[in-house]
Amino acid sequence: MPSEKTSSYDHLFNSIKEPVICQKCFDEFAQGQTDAGSLQHYAALDVGFTDRGVQIWCRRHDLNVCHIDFAGMALDADFRCLEQSK
Ligand SMILES: [Zn+2]
Repeated sequence: MPSEKTSSYDHLFNSIKEPVICQKCFDEFAQGQTDAGSLQHYAALDVGFTDRGVQIWCRRHDLNVCHIDFAGMALDADFRCLEQSK
């Protein structure tokens, strides 16, 4: 049974452990070629469903960053939005 600290809604808050980045955006940011304050602000990624699964696309460089293949499976997805109380 979930405790108050580990509710069934925990996955709706930011739990990213390994961000997906465009290698070209990373290289340009790391070489100081931008005046963006962070790589997150420099990156311009689109994320969306495709016939194959989910694709992450760099708008800045107009190229594929990652395309996840669902292998025809219908995976669970939770689109609810929660704001974390402060
Ligand atoms: Zn890029």
